[in-house]
Amino acid sequence: MAQKEDKLKDIISHAKEYGFIFPSSEIYDGLSATYDYGQIGSELKNNIKSYWWKSMVQIHENIVGIDSAIFMHPNIWKASGHTDAFNDPLIDNKDSKKRYRADILIEDHIEKIHKKINKEILKGKKRFGDNFNETKFKQTNPNIIRHLSAINAVENRMKKNLEENNLEEIYNLIVDLEISCPISGSKNWTEVRQFNLMFSTEMGSVEGESAKIYLRPETAQGIFVNFSNVQKTGRMKIPFGIAQIGKAFRNEIIARQFIFRMREFEQMEMQFFIPPGEEKKWYKYWKEERIKWHYKLGLGEENYRFHDHIKLAHYADNACDIEFKFPMGFKELEGIHSRTDFDLKQHEKFSGKKLQYFDPKLNQNYVPYVIETSIGLDRLFLAILSSSLKTEKLNDGSNRILLSLPPALSPYKAAIMPLTRKDGLPEKAKRIFNELKFKFNCIYDEKDSPGKRYRRQDAIGTPHSIMIDHQTLEDESVTIRNRDTMLQERVQIKCIEEIITKYSMAELLK
Ligand code: ATP
Repeated sequence: MAQKEDKLKDIISHAKEYGFIFPSSEIYDGLSATYDYGQIGSELKNNIKSYWWKSMVQIHENIVGIDSAIFMHPNIWKASGHTDAFNDPLIDNKDSKKRYRADILIEDHIEKIHKKINKEILKGKKRFGDNFNETKFKQTNPNIIRHLSAINAVENRMKKNLEENNLEEIYNLIVDLEISCPISGSKNWTEVRQFNLMFSTEMGSVEGESAKIYLRPETAQGIFVNFSNVQKTGRMKIPFGIAQIGKAFRNEIIARQFIFRMREFEQMEMQFFIPPGEEKKWYKYWKEERIKWHYKLGLGEENYRFHDHIKLAHYADNACDIEFKFPMGFKELEGIHSRTDFDLKQHEKFSGKKLQYFDPKLNQNYVPYVIETSIGLDRLFLAILSSSLKTEKLNDGSNRILLSLPPALSPYKAAIMPLTRKDGLPEKAKRIFNELKFKFNCIYDEKDSPGKRYRRQDAIGTPHSIMIDHQTLEDESVTIRNRDTMLQERVQIKCIEEIITKYSMAELLK
């Protein structure tokens, strides 16, 4: 536990020290669960957005993107179910005065049982060596059988009670499982209550219910209400998708863990419209596509897993999360939801407008079904940052901090450095910088010793550092240093562009 917290603390302090992320309103002592992206962080964030947009929108002929308003008609949230049902069950510990999400307390309890199972498996592996058969072991080991049946029982009880909104029984479940507060250690709980997560404000100069509007808690509804606009003006044929990147706001009960859970965050969502009856096929398709997309980033396939939802949201007939191994453990990074025709039908009902598609192949009108892929941009940022930050021991016994970002996403593609600040080297380096800056985002750095400058670039993930020295003036050659191998190679200036291009986004998209 302490190790996990240390890792997160290291990431938070690295993010601040190098200009990735600052606490919001810091000079006023901050505002809880809001963060600002700094000069390096916003470059990384823009590159992540652009990678998602290119791979989801621009290379798919049948997916287009929009940018809808954050403020929307309040009836949209009635139609979508958010006004009535966008709630989290919360519970307070009377001793620590800390507030928790009841479902998350129970899920953490389940995770602890999973850990016990993993321990048994490790023991088995040690005992049986090469002859170890994990599947068989899981089916026959009495401790594992007992743990699995405990998990099953807890999951079934939680699902039933959440679906029935039976808050008293959720409280009883927490008591029966003897769950204690991680802070106070006590089991002195309040009752469970529902808490709506939407932020509201007033539009115009009138106050009161009639002027009440909400800050959108998801970007998806902006897509649904524009379904017909986009389909007609874009002459889109089903199956097709509409994507959007934008801010969302949720008054989270507990907003800890850095940018993992914030009250203002950004989502990258895509709604894929399909004929009714094809939802199973497309759900499977998007699950596979999305996990492949993640694997390509190179953060390690072992860091991902699927988690099927125990309790389905009111709009879904199938749903899972792609979980990532964050410093705090495996947690949701992306959701894939089969949303049926719920949203479009609800908007038809509440707006009185038809949201249908005429299918020329079937010669009939229908309300399309929808598969949604929804990823939190900030969570993806944290996944990339946390898995890239390393401390490496070098041969000379010293340490270096390395941020091994996927090069295509790095804030700067190259750092241009003159060896010294004299003999015309800065002028030459500036000329190279002024050429390259139109092709890639580059940084010019002439301060401190070369070693220190290399370390600074390693810490912000710049894949290449280009050093201009006296030989450059003679034969137009420079040294180019690779961030990961630290190897330096002498190359002609005219080859720099090709070397950097090899690490470009186009390669990641192929
Ligand atoms: P959680 O269970 O963690 O609260 P969720 O299931 O409510 O998340 P969705 O409604 O499916 O999340 O939202 C889609 C994605 O948006 C999530 O997978 C996550 O990456 C991101 N997201 C949701 N809430 C937040 C938040 N408070 N801060 C940052 N990202 C978030």
